[in-house]
Amino acid sequence: MPQTIHISAGTDFVKDSVKVRGACPHDCPDTCALLTTVEDGVAVKVQGNPDHPQTGGVLCTKVSRYTERSYHPERILQPLKRVGPKGSGRFEPVSWDSALDEIAARLQAIARRNPEAIAPYSYAGTMGLVQAEGMAARFFNKLGASLLDRTICSAAGGEALTQTLGGKVGMKVEFFAEARLILIWGSNSIASNLHFWRYVQEAKRHGARVVCIDPRKTETADKCHEHIALRPGTDAALALALMHQLIVHDWLDHDYIAQHTVGWDELRQRALLWPPERAAEVCGVPVEQIIALARDYGNTQPAAIRLNYGMQRVRGGGNAARAIACLPALTGAWRHRAGGLLLSSSGMFPINKAALQRPDLLAGRRPRTLNMITIGDDLQRDSSPAFGPKIEALIVYNSNPVAVAPESGKVVQGFEREDLFTVVLEHFQTDTADYADFILPATTQLEHWDIHAAYGHTDVLLNRPAIAPLGQARPNSAIFRALAARMGFTEPCFSEDDETLCRAAFSHPDGDRVDFNELLDKGFATLAIPDAPFADGRFLTPSGKCEFFSARLAAQGLDGLPDHLPNHEAAGSSAEFPLAMISPPARNFLNSSFVNVKSLRDIEGEPLLEIDADDAAARGIPDGAIVRVFNQRGEYRCRAKVSARARPGVVNGLGVWWRKLGLDGTNVNQLTSQQLTDLGRGPVFYDCLVEVQLDQAAAL
Ligand code: SF4
Repeated sequence: MPQTIHISAGTDFVKDSVKVRGACPHDCPDTCALLTTVEDGVAVKVQGNPDHPQTGGVLCTKVSRYTERSYHPERILQPLKRVGPKGSGRFEPVSWDSALDEIAARLQAIARRNPEAIAPYSYAGTMGLVQAEGMAARFFNKLGASLLDRTICSAAGGEALTQTLGGKVGMKVEFFAEARLILIWGSNSIASNLHFWRYVQEAKRHGARVVCIDPRKTETADKCHEHIALRPGTDAALALALMHQLIVHDWLDHDYIAQHTVGWDELRQRALLWPPERAAEVCGVPVEQIIALARDYGNTQPAAIRLNYGMQRVRGGGNAARAIACLPALTGAWRHRAGGLLLSSSGMFPINKAALQRPDLLAGRRPRTLNMITIGDDLQRDSSPAFGPKIEALIVYNSNPVAVAPESGKVVQGFEREDLFTVVLEHFQTDTADYADFILPATTQLEHWDIHAAYGHTDVLLNRPAIAPLGQARPNSAIFRALAARMGFTEPCFSEDDETLCRAAFSHPDGDRVDFNELLDKGFATLAIPDAPFADGRFLTPSGKCEFFSARLAAQGLDGLPDHLPNHEAAGSSAEFPLAMISPPARNFLNSSFVNVKSLRDIEGEPLLEIDADDAAARGIPDGAIVRVFNQRGEYRCRAKVSARARPGVVNGLGVWWRKLGLDGTNVNQLTSQQLTDLGRGPVFYDCLVEVQLDQAAAL
């Protein structure tokens, strides 16, 4: 017999099987198709859907334990109101009615003075188009709240792709399996892009050579034929030196360059300034390695580059991504379906954002935009003509800024403000939820509808709810719907249910861009995209060409050509803080998600700092010692792991631990800065100098 599950938003859903098709909501390029087994209304297992080619029936360790997360004993299952001082983490249960009434009253009072004093704060805690910026965006647009520049992950690289290729577009991931040379540039694919790694393994079986370019000797580097351990923030120098070699040896596709690029003469002049010897000095790698890589890249077809976002979290990250994105056009790699570059495929999805988010509700208002990177400073700013009104209320959903935003000492100071009204929609009492005035219990992916684009493949996925919401939890969409009603927002769009929002995501006046019935039937649908999208040029730039020279950047007063920009905190620039620190994700966490899942935290153990043996010996640090990691912004204590995974002069602070689960109530972001990237106003998490010392107190 079909079983009916009642969703809190009032949607009834008739399930035809005990296995329910869904989508992984996490910030990962793979966007896997899920199959959740439900028995007597309880989700007992979450598996990969074997029918979805990109998933292949396999999930990562993290999400295969999704039931442990959904049924976690510490799940927040009722609205909570603060009873202790800010940050004390003391709350008492309240009814939904009383929480929503009080929140709406507080927001209305602030909005009467100036709605821009209210700000959303959200990112990729769920990647679903409905539970992320669906009903929430409608709510904030109608309110006239500040807008948020959601820059914390990919802004510099995204802007670089847009300026060079015309959007976040690239080769289709499945064709990496046919490449003869693969450069994995700034990606620990085994940990954070597992399904791409399957294609690499297939390519390797067929004889492909695989090179990893990464300051850290990752698990992925271990499995590649070669590892190039460059200094953080020097990727553009390496890319320019590769161009230099392609030019001087004439390993170029002149026909492709002539027909499908803009700015070749200018780029040529720029690249000739970067002989391999100069780049070797900047990057801290042997010159022979650069020359050999250029020879391989210039003489192997098809050659494919899997670029990832780690390398663009430095001052010159946008320029670096631009330089790398120019390479395939120089060799004509785009002619082959297994050649080119993939950083993100998200720009290939024809999402109807206007239908989902309804910017028309702004009704001509143009609120200020806050950058989520500088929330630490912004929460401490007073009203001014330049800044606008002081931030009086923050609504946080799908994010944990106290743990993940840079310079977290300042972020904490901001959240501690007694005059800041903070509402957090969450599954757990995170570091951020500790500072809330109200915590509202949100559903997990097993309990709500959603629809997903991807940034590592080109399939749309539908997520059906597998179980009823636990406790009193509600989908984000339902929470914003209820708040809208209390605020007196009467537009019909605030009454639309989640299935309607899912249908709107790919709707279009000329006809839907994705067949919703196919999504209902199979759980996924593949976009119709040519196998080699840029074989004949047709880039999405204004010129229709790969723009080596960007007139749009030049018009902004920026360099129209890619170049190497040294880090804000370049290696060797400080005697006081001589070590560069990067903070790549711990393998069993995803940003700050999963840190409180005990079985995964047990694998990770505790916060670690990987340090090279000579750097450790010079400081008298034995393996396993507790160390102080510090700079001008703060101090963080963790355990040192003397490891070949760290290159000399660079330490790896694995993240992102919840502060309260660390050794001293801090995490690695105590040390990172709020400076911005060259393009996209993104974060510079990997542009950070520190010093490390043995913690004498712990050593006693
Ligand atoms: S986190 Fe990534 S690899 Fe893991 S299940 Fe989700 S999409 Fe797949």
